[in-house]
Amino acid sequence: SRETECEAILEAVDRIAARIESEKKHLTDLDSAIGDADHGANLDRGFKAVVETLDQKEDADAQDLVKTVGTALISEVGGASGPLYGGSCMHASQELEAGITAETTVAFAEAYLEKLQDRGGAEVGDKTMVDALTPAVHTYKKSIEVDDLPPLEALAKAVDGAERGVEYTVPLKAAKGRASYLGWRSVGHQDPGATSTLLILEELLATAEE
Ligand code: ADP
Ligand code: MG
Ligand code: MG
Repeated sequence: SRETECEAILEAVDRIAARIESEKKHLTDLDSAIGDADHGANLDRGFKAVVETLDQKEDADAQDLVKTVGTALISEVGGASGPLYGGSCMHASQELEAGITAETTVAFAEAYLEKLQDRGGAEVGDKTMVDALTPAVHTYKKSIEVDDLPPLEALAKAVDGAERGVEYTVPLKAAKGRASYLGWRSVGHQDPGATSTLLILEELLATAEE
């Protein structure tokens, strides 16, 4: 029902905010190696604002809530990651008009990835969040549409895909974002945005498991 879906979204957002807070230093350390040491602080500020904004919202549906997550992230995160996380979330929220089902979540995931690549222009291999997100989205879609797995199992496989994507960023030379200014010196470091994407997916899975 609509209430259950809204409760699940609020629960997911709370979990994500708590996880980002506890990994704030880790994300900032990753960003200090190949960026400007603010990714943890950016996202922590953003998800705290998301929780506050959603707490004040009444009588909403899934589409509405997820759209609000996007706008709060855009206005609070800043940097490269704010418009990417927020804009994609906002855009993809329209796929949830009919609520949260296996079908609508696949459409959401695809729309999110498409918007992210539209905006940021990054491809797989550029050492960005796209490297974690792409295998996650493709695995989720295939697990549901081809392998006919239940959404929870599909999401677990998507998290595995994102985990491999994060590992894959380590040896890459960055081609987008601040890390690209370092050229070859970016090699050997894990991408902060790919890492935060994985953390968020892990918390979505943990919420779905409950
Ligand atoms: P900033 O680099 O402006 O300080 P953040 O530190 O919050 O922003 O975010 C950095 C992360 O954003 C990178 O680790 C990378 O994953 C992601 N990123 C940067 N540029 C792009 C892009 N063009 N496309 C996709 N992701 C990007
Ligand atoms: Mg940064
Ligand atoms: Mg910055």
